[in-house]
This record gives sequence, C-alpha cells and structure tokens, in this order.
Amino acid sequence: MKEFELIRQIQRETSVSYSPGFKHGVKLGIGDDAAVLEVPAGQHLVAATDTLNAGTHFPTDTSPFDIGYKCLAVNLSDLAAMGATPRWALLSLSLPRADPQWVHLFSEGFRLLATAYNVTLVGGDTTSGPLSVSLTALGSVEPGKQIARTGAKPGDLLVVSGTIGGAAHALDRLQAGEPVIERDLLDRPQPRVNLGLSLRGYASACIDVSDGLLADLGHVLEASGCGARLEIEKLPQTQALKGLGDERKWRYQLSGGDDYELLFTLPAQHKEWLATCSQENEIELSVIGEIEKDEGIRCFRNDGSAYLPQDTGFEHFRSRQ
Ligand code: ADP
Ligand code: MG
Repeated sequence: MKEFELIRQIQRETSVSYSPGFKHGVKLGIGDDAAVLEVPAGQHLVAATDTLNAGTHFPTDTSPFDIGYKCLAVNLSDLAAMGATPRWALLSLSLPRADPQWVHLFSEGFRLLATAYNVTLVGGDTTSGPLSVSLTALGSVEPGKQIARTGAKPGDLLVVSGTIGGAAHALDRLQAGEPVIERDLLDRPQPRVNLGLSLRGYASACIDVSDGLLADLGHVLEASGCGARLEIEKLPQTQALKGLGDERKWRYQLSGGDDYELLFTLPAQHKEWLATCSQENEIELSVIGEIEKDEGIRCFRNDGSAYLPQDTGFEHFRSRQ
C-alpha cells in the first residue's frame, strides 16, 4: 500500500457529519499543498499541538482506536483550557509500516471525538518510522475571551473538574503488571470542551491537568505571580483511589498526570454560579483551595495541619537531562 492510499483512507474514515448549523469553514482540505480555512468573522484563531510517542505517552499495548482517540482528546483539552471552540485538526503520523487495519481502527477512535466536537481533519503528513502521532488542533474564540494562565488573583477560588489521580493510578497498576480497573481514565480522557466554553467570562485563569496537579497549578501561579493553598482532602477521587492509603492516593492526585481535567480559578463573586455550571455540563466541580498573594503552594489536611508532598510532577527530560 502506498502513502497516498493511506491518506485517502484516513480522509474517508475520519470524516464527520456536523451538528446542525455548524459551519466547518473548510475552503480547501486534504489533497492540496495546504489547507485554506475560514475563521468565523470577528474571531481569533487558537492553535495547540501535542505529540504522542509510543511507550512514553501511551503504553505500547494501547489499541490503535485509543491512540486515535487520545491524540485528539489531549489537544481538544488544550483548546478547552483556553475556552476555544474546536474546528480543525492536522495529523502527522509516523508508522513503522503501512497497515490499513491499524489506520482503520485509529480513524474510528479519532472519529468518535471528531464527531462529538465537529472537528474536521484538514491535512497532515504521513511518514514511515517509529510509531508517533502528532496532532495540531485549531479552534477559535472571540477576541479577548480566551482564558489565559495569567489571570489568577488572591482570593479567587481554585476549582477542578471531574476526578484527579485516576489515570496515574491506572498506569501504575498497568506497569506493575496488576489488573487495571479504570483503564479508560488513561486511554479515553474526556476533553472538557463544553466546560471550557462555559468558563469564558467567569474563570480568571485555566489550565488542563496533563502533567500533574501540583505541576500544572504551579504553571498558573507562576504566570499569574501569586500562590495558593490547597486542601488535599478535597481533591475529587475515583472509586479505585478510595481503596488506597492516603500517602499513595495523594501521590497520584498531586503528582500523577494524564487526567485532562480543567483546573481553573474563579473570582469569589461567581461562587454561586459553580452549581449551575456543574449541572449544565453534567460534571462534578470541586473547590480545592484558594489563590493567595504569597508565592508557592501550601497543602493542608482537613484538620488544618500542613502536608508536604514528596514529588511534584512529571517532567519529560528529568531523568535524561
Ligand atoms: P506534500 O508533499 O505537498 O506535503 P503530502 O503527499 O504529504 O503532500 O500530502 C498530501 C495531502 O494529504 C496534503 O493535503 C496533506 O495535508 C494530506 N495528508 C498527508 N498525510 C495526512 C494525514 N496523516 N492526515 C491527514 N492529511 C494528511
Ligand atoms: Mg507532506
């Protein structure tokens, strides 16, 4: 099978039917030298890229379906954290061999999410090499409505969606050769796109939790020039985490990555609105702390005692320099 046949297959098998009224804006898509896209009038383009390498960003036994799903999910999560509407994607695929069955399953996983969020694949690159998937997601937002990392202020509430630590726990069990429950938390993270859109005009800062709660909170605090207190017993936990000892559970929750939940700061005046937002988006929203003037993160247990975390998050080149 030749490269162009694979590309045609990808184009065919990832194409979605749009929600009524959604304008895809694709003037030229796959098949020319570059795509030509019409950003909706008066909006700004929002762009994010993430690469998934086999063995590093997903376990080598991950199904092609889940790889297709996850490469889009992690990028939509970045758009969600900006409060952007997803529109288009570009896919750079490096495959050890041209395998139509692999591509078929990959495309199915991709299409599941692409359909849910009206994402059109408009181009990419296909090469032969070690399995690696790089995706660029493009979306749009009204000027000035994007939610940056820079806007947190002392007194803002610190809020997180869904549950935290489940993906890291699943990965740990997998690597230890133990039976994995809640593996979907690792393989099928749900990008919180609709939540991100709801947060526009309310949240003062937002980030998606990919590297671990402390690490990602640290990015927001650094960008905003402030600190935070974190109530570690308020961190929302999955069923599987509830069965663990505190130390182990907190390690997954504070330092584990891959949850792709939204972590945002909310001016206290909008506190009442949280319940409405939670209902409308059918997602749990937990207040887990507060932004403070003094830099750094201070963790506390429910009884008010301070807690010192052991590990602060995943950094790609930490062990390799
Ligand atoms: P060029 O050599 O001009 O870059 P390619 O042969 O690489 O063109 O690609 C042909 C067309 O197919 C282009 O429109 C490109 O964007 C698209 N394409 C290639 N690989 C992929 C892919 N994995 N997913 C989506 N589109 C792709
Ligand atoms: Mg090319």
